[in-house]
Amino acid sequence: MKLSQNGWVVIAGLGPGNDALVTQEVRDAIDEATDIVGYIPYVKRIEPREGLTLHASDNRVEVDRATHALEMAAEGKRVVVVSSGDPGVFAMASAVFEALENSAEAHPEWLDLEIKVLPGITAMLAAAAAIGAPLGHDFAAINLSDNLKPWSLIEKRLQLVGEAGLAMAFYNPRSKSRPHQFARALEILREACGAETLITFARDVTKPGQELLTVPLKDATPEMADMRTVVIVGNRDTRRVGNYVYTPATQLRVKRGNGTARP
Ligand code: SAH
Repeated sequence: MKLSQNGWVVIAGLGPGNDALVTQEVRDAIDEATDIVGYIPYVKRIEPREGLTLHASDNRVEVDRATHALEMAAEGKRVVVVSSGDPGVFAMASAVFEALENSAEAHPEWLDLEIKVLPGITAMLAAAAAIGAPLGHDFAAINLSDNLKPWSLIEKRLQLVGEAGLAMAFYNPRSKSRPHQFARALEILREACGAETLITFARDVTKPGQELLTVPLKDATPEMADMRTVVIVGNRDTRRVGNYVYTPATQLRVKRGNGTARP
């Protein structure tokens, strides 16, 4: 990847946790950077060095953080905005473009800044790989946090996606500020996908304390998930073979279900 010596913004994904999964182009951008911007635990992953300023901030102010990155780039700084996983998956890449759009009147010159998004391995793909191939066929990724959308919309999506026979991956499944919602999500999933459908709780994927737990939906409890967990629900054909969980190419049960909730 070629980056200039003028100001730029790179929005980079650091992958799920293991440093071996950080791509070479992300490492190169960090080596070229003058400033790193991001949520505290992600900025902690960057090795401090002479000439590099670390701006660690709280997660709730994503667009402010993105605006700060654009301001610094406009001053000629080389800024890397770090996200975990992939920056385009429930992370900073959208926030940077939103900040760019919000500032287009006040700072039209920002539209000409060099902005690049560098992908990373997102949590659901690292988790799927750790357990086998549960997302081997059609699937949907859903953020269960209702910070940015109403909970009623999340419920509707769970129901329709479940009935459509897609496997699912859930980010931000359960936090202390909304303890009851994940229990409700499990109820909807049992109804829409069938109680025997397999659900996997993958915690701290690729990190030292990685935990993987697969059970049928009927045995799943809300306590199995927290904010360090990504949750994968298969479709009606998803099954175990030995220690693995996979979704076969031939979707017999989903097909027989005719795309509805009835078995
Ligand atoms: N951009 C990130 C997602 C940020 S949202 C990505 O692409 O992975 C934060 C959520 O991601 C967490 O609540 C959790 O559901 C999931 N997550 C991120 N890293 C994880 C890991 N190592 N193990 C399990 N879940 C993870």
